[in-house]
Amino acid sequence: MPLIKATAIVLRSRKWGDADRIVTFYSKEKGKIGGVARGARRPKSRFGAALEPFSLCRLNLFEKAGDSLLRVSQVDLVRSSQKLRESLSLIDSAARMVNVVAAITPDGDPDRLLFDTLEQGLASLHESEDPAFTALLFQIRLLGVTGFRPQTDHCAACGKAHFVGEPQFSPLAGGLVCLSCAAHQRVRCIALSRGSLSFLQQAIRLDPAIVTRLRASGQVRGEVEAAIEGYVTVVAGKRLPSANFLSITVSS
Ligand SMILES: [Zn+2]
Repeated sequence: MPLIKATAIVLRSRKWGDADRIVTFYSKEKGKIGGVARGARRPKSRFGAALEPFSLCRLNLFEKAGDSLLRVSQVDLVRSSQKLRESLSLIDSAARMVNVVAAITPDGDPDRLLFDTLEQGLASLHESEDPAFTALLFQIRLLGVTGFRPQTDHCAACGKAHFVGEPQFSPLAGGLVCLSCAAHQRVRCIALSRGSLSFLQQAIRLDPAIVTRLRASGQVRGEVEAAIEGYVTVVAGKRLPSANFLSITVSS
C-alpha cells in the first residue's frame, strides 16, 4: 500500500454511502485523482471542512488492493474555500473554474502549469470585485495552457490570414474563421466586433500578473463570454454542470 503525498485543490465532493465522500482533486503531483474519504460526513470527522470544493490542501492517500479509488487518510487544509462559498456569484464563478478543469483534464496526468493556473485563479477570486469576469479571464488562460488556445491570427479552419467583414468565432474550429469557412461550420459561429476580438487577443497574450487589469463590459463582454462558453462546451464534449452539481450550500 504505497503512500501518496500530494498538494491538491478539491474540484468536487459527493456523498457516498452512509457517511463517506468521494472527492475529485486536481493535484500538483498526480494531476486529476479521485479518492474516498471514509467517515467524512460524520459530525466530528477528522477531515473537517478541508474537503469542501475549492479548498487547497495537503493529502495523504493510499491505494487499496482491488479498488480503483484511492483512500484519503489525512488532509491538512492549506487555504480554506470558506470565502468562495459566501455568495452565489462567488460559488458560480469558482464552480465554473473547477468544472472546466475537471472536464478538460484526463485522470492522472500531472501538469504543473495547469495546477498553478487553477490555484492563482481561485486566489484571484478572493480579491475579485467581478467574479464572473475573473472566471472568464481564467477560462481563456486555461484554454491557452492546456493546448486549446483560441486561434485569433488566421482562419482556424483553412489557415487564411486575412479576413473580410466581421470576425466570426467558431467554437468547433477553436477560433476565428473566414466568412466562407463560417458558412460551413456545423455549430453556429459567434460574430465578434473588432473590440471583442482585440479584448480576446489581449486576454490570451497578456501576462497573468497584469491580465486582471483588462476590462470589458456590454457588447464586448457578452460576445467574448458567448464565444468562450461555446468553445469550452466543444472542448469538454458537453455543457458544463451548474454550481448546483457540486452540492454546495452558501455559508455565511
Ligand atoms: Zn477559412
